[in-house]
Amino acid sequence: MEDCIFCQIIAGKIPAAVVYEDDKVFAFEDIKPAAPVHILLIPRRHIATFNDLKPHDVELMGHMALVLKKLAADHGLAEKGYRILINCGSEGGQQVYHLHYHLLGGRPLGRLLP
Ligand code: AMP
Ligand code: ZN
Repeated sequence: MEDCIFCQIIAGKIPAAVVYEDDKVFAFEDIKPAAPVHILLIPRRHIATFNDLKPHDVELMGHMALVLKKLAADHGLAEKGYRILINCGSEGGQQVYHLHYHLLGGRPLGRLLP
């Protein structure tokens, strides 16, 4: 996906502060952090949104869950806690259409829900 900024980050064409990578996923610091720790975790394969997940992505999503847990621990968030979120589509607030988890922590995040 030539016009996808996250695919360009994976390809090394746009610089990013990379914190983790393996054969399936890639993680880097958000350019506009909303918390002291704000990491984006993305699949290497371009998947536009959560809506586009297929049955064969089950292993990938399970892997991403474990990588998120490791990233939280590696950044000192495990004990105090953190938030993981995915924005999907326009009303979900998605701005970059390459599926990504946000990992946020390092300050009290407050409640999203009433
Ligand atoms: P979302 O609104 O869920 O699509 O989140 C997109 C996130 O990508 C935002 O938090 C942006 O700050 C972040 N972002 C956009 N461009 C870059 C970039 N070049 N490097 C790192 N993060 C980025
Ligand atoms: Zn992409």
